[in-house]
Amino acid sequence: MALLQISEPGQSAAPHQHKLAVGIDLGTTNSLVATVRSGMSTVLQDEYGHALLPSVVRYLPNGEIVVGHEAQAQQSADPMNTIVSAKRFMGRSLHDIADRAHIPYRFMEDAASNKQVQLHTRAGLKTPVEISAEILKALKVRAEHSLGGELTGAVITVPAYFDDAQRQATKDAARLAGLNVLRLLNEPTAAAVAYGLDNNAEGTFVIYDLGGGTFDVSILKLTKGVFEVLATNGDSALGGDDFDHRIYCWILDKVRETSNNFAPPQEFKPLGEEDTRLLLTKARQAKEWLTDNFEAQIVCKLSNGILVDVTLSATQFVELTQHLVTKTLTPTRKAMRDAGLDIADIKGVVMVGGATRMPQVRHAVEDYFKQSPLTNLDPDKVVALGAAIQANALVGNRSENDLLLLDVTPLSLGLETMGGLVEKIIPRNSTLPVARAQDFTTYKDGQTAMSIQVVQGERELVADCRSLARFELRGIPPMAAGAARIRVTFQVDADGLLSVTAREQTSGVEAHVVVKPSYGLTEDEITRMLTSSFGSAEADKKARMLAEARVNAGAIINAVTLALAADSHLISKEDKQAIEAEIARLQSMTSADDAVAINKGVEALNHATEAFAQARMNASVTHALSGKNLEDINL
Ligand code: ADP
Ligand code: MG
Repeated sequence: MALLQISEPGQSAAPHQHKLAVGIDLGTTNSLVATVRSGMSTVLQDEYGHALLPSVVRYLPNGEIVVGHEAQAQQSADPMNTIVSAKRFMGRSLHDIADRAHIPYRFMEDAASNKQVQLHTRAGLKTPVEISAEILKALKVRAEHSLGGELTGAVITVPAYFDDAQRQATKDAARLAGLNVLRLLNEPTAAAVAYGLDNNAEGTFVIYDLGGGTFDVSILKLTKGVFEVLATNGDSALGGDDFDHRIYCWILDKVRETSNNFAPPQEFKPLGEEDTRLLLTKARQAKEWLTDNFEAQIVCKLSNGILVDVTLSATQFVELTQHLVTKTLTPTRKAMRDAGLDIADIKGVVMVGGATRMPQVRHAVEDYFKQSPLTNLDPDKVVALGAAIQANALVGNRSENDLLLLDVTPLSLGLETMGGLVEKIIPRNSTLPVARAQDFTTYKDGQTAMSIQVVQGERELVADCRSLARFELRGIPPMAAGAARIRVTFQVDADGLLSVTAREQTSGVEAHVVVKPSYGLTEDEITRMLTSSFGSAEADKKARMLAEARVNAGAIINAVTLALAADSHLISKEDKQAIEAEIARLQSMTSADDAVAINKGVEALNHATEAFAQARMNASVTHALSGKNLEDINL
């Protein structure tokens, strides 16, 4: 009988068959799909020749759903059913998006799906995941149509700052769209691949990505064609939209000023959803026009009959938005500091995102890095182009060694230990994928269960960090305090998703959790968590010392109390009373905030129990020698 042939894992059974793999840039403003054809990464166009698909989804009265330009065209006429920037709400709760005052939608929070927001549309409540899935479906149809076959898989890009919940939401959206996700890839990393930085030089590069809704800055180091992300930073609530909003406010001011003469000002106050959308669209067009022109004329008619006709000069526009440009330099500086680099260490700066076309942005970046940024690739296509190259490599179409892309964790990951202290397992900016293990032990004699709280943040106390998950390890064999060995392993995969395992080494009992936080951290929260950790190192050290002293005191009081209960017959009544007095003294000290005093109390108690300890040891030895079962002898 002939043996059945089985191909090696990862190898196609038909080696010459080219698998269809695409890269998808699921953007806040625009989405794209690209693929590698004849060795070249190319963006796929729709039947009208559009490469960019506006990330806009409209729910029509007849139940139809339209995506892209057609939906965008109706944005001002039907704002409540035409969803833009759904990416901003991915994996988010109402609390996370509370500060976005100019979002017109009506939100609901869904307790069942981890507090994620839902939007009221005429087609019912829609989650950001469902809305994003419509965009991905449209790109899948486009790709299968132009490639003439079914897709094997897709690499989908996400901002470097996306946390677990946001990454998970992106994967869910892809699954809903019927896509096989090969990997999630950070957008800046994809851009570096598109520029082929892996092929030419060694060196350190900065990826500056200012899109419609997010700003990301990443520092990548190249060594022998392998990328390592040294640091990432950004602002998930800063992008081209904010420049539009500045122009929008300017238009409103202008109109109020000029029409004060003939209309009461309050007529403008409650500007309807449609007018808001219309003006924001006009503002965006003016902004894009000003990239190549000296002035932009903004003309439109509001629903109250007032005609808007204003002219904005490029100089005025730069003044209006200078603070937004400057705002991007703060995360940039932080990333440089995290990576421990000087401007002189940077070999090149890559510009990504449509908003980096604005001359003032290019100038600011050039001023800061003292070199002209790389702009020869189309800034709104580079991410999709790079994702396609990565997808092509992942399905095995590339014959050379697959490129490795390493990303980093934005915040440290750790767990809670006694006294509410954080033990960091994976430090911030560790390259991904990463796995780290550490051994822990029990606090009490006979302890058979352990509660493990997983936290994220830079501070020393659990209360100052963010809790990601809590799980229990049960079935630990009863042992003396400190004898059990529990190995806790943290693993973050290439997509940035965390799983934690706790395993008791002798019995092999194990507990496991995959961390899917209920909702994501906002950029402000991350910034606050980072800056407060820098500012409170001294206070944190004190708090840690105090907590450690208390834990230590508690453990000793516990041990001595148990020993007295078992063996107080070994010492005199006076000695016993002396020990009890020290216990009481130490007990009262633990409630005060003085680590030094508590430690002194511990010393005093240790001293008072010296004779007792000696007596117990002698008794144990006597017991053992008299042929008693060893298990009966505790301590
Ligand atoms: P995202 O990654 O958020 O989907 P993109 O990279 O597609 O965003 O960038 C979209 C942003 O780029 C929008 O704010 C858009 O107005 C802006 N943009 C596109 N072209 C220009 C231009 N010529 N000048 C200024 N801004 C532009
Ligand atoms: Mg983008």
